[in-house]
Amino acid sequence: MAKKEKGKTSIIVFQDWCKGCGICVEFCPGKVLELDRTSGKALVVHPEECINCGFCELHCPDFAIMLAPKERENPMAAELNCNGGDQ
Ligand code: SF4
Ligand code: SF4
Repeated sequence: MAKKEKGKTSIIVFQDWCKGCGICVEFCPGKVLELDRTSGKALVVHPEECINCGFCELHCPDFAIMLAPKERENPMAAELNCNGGDQ
């Protein structure tokens, strides 16, 4: 199985739907999420550690988490095999 790369995923937590149960915080293998001390809701604190395992999105009882691939910084650069630097 291919090794999962870190930091390639955007993690969105819909604050209005999160009830602060802590499941995502407890079981995230990368410790990406924490419960906010004030609101008690999940926050993304270490997105660079996310391995896109999908646990949080699948197990959130309130469907409050959505994962999406991060956009490339410059998709055209990859397609044209160009890094944008001076020649
Ligand atoms: S699992 Fe869902 S409801 Fe529970 S803390 Fe995480 S985002 Fe909030
Ligand atoms: S996808 Fe996995 S690693 Fe990423 S935030 Fe969710 S539980 Fe953590």
